[in-house]
Amino acid sequence: MNFVDTHAHLQMKHFENDREEIIKNFENAGIFFVINVGTNIEDSIISAEFSRKYNKIFSSIGIHPHDSKNAPENYLEKLEELSKNDKVVAIGEIGLDYFRNFSPKEIQQKVFTEQLLLAKELQLPVIIHIRDAYEDAYSILESFGPFEKGGVIHSFSADSEWALKFVKLGFYLGIGGPITYKKNKILREVVRMVGEDNILTETDCPYLPPQPFRGKRNEPAYVKYVVEAINDIIGYDVSEILIKNAVELFEVNL
Ligand SMILES: [Zn+2]
Repeated sequence: MNFVDTHAHLQMKHFENDREEIIKNFENAGIFFVINVGTNIEDSIISAEFSRKYNKIFSSIGIHPHDSKNAPENYLEKLEELSKNDKVVAIGEIGLDYFRNFSPKEIQQKVFTEQLLLAKELQLPVIIHIRDAYEDAYSILESFGPFEKGGVIHSFSADSEWALKFVKLGFYLGIGGPITYKKNKILREVVRMVGEDNILTETDCPYLPPQPFRGKRNEPAYVKYVVEAINDIIGYDVSEILIKNAVELFEVNL
């Protein structure tokens, strides 16, 4: 089987001692490509550099809701500049996070909205982070739609009803390690309901490792466990479809 990891944060300090090894690991593990995702200007710059340096890494650039209060005044120009790199394939991760509320809600909404507009202008898909804010995120996305270039609700964590609403808006659902957690019946129900055509696979590494590695650091090679869990739920091997979804959304040329 081959795999893609549409959401990794290899720039993070968790990988500073063995990054090269982790990248070799995933190249040998049948990973087609990885989308490395930025969360602020500094690490979006690093992320874009990684994609220049490593064949199988593409990058997404953007300001995470946690970081929105620290976004420099000219952040939109900086993102636009970075997007000129051919291997920058998306804007993200952007969105709303009311669970931690590291940035005030109004600022999160402003920075989210401005980046959605930028993505439209640049004709790029979006990678969306939503936590405890499905209602507000949905109404913002709905008011902006349709998203010609599409996007993904990364690490989707709501129920089937929300899942269908976002799929109807034209978004994929990003499914990662939590699909392998024994108690996560709701997410398995979501996957069954929306089917393989509306799913992207991801790790969100270093976070959210699959069941066998819980409590440890996650890495792109572990996306295999996510694909196996999805195959089990759907009832047959959908790994090629999951790759196709990601290739189409991010218009990846290998
Ligand atoms: Zn992330």
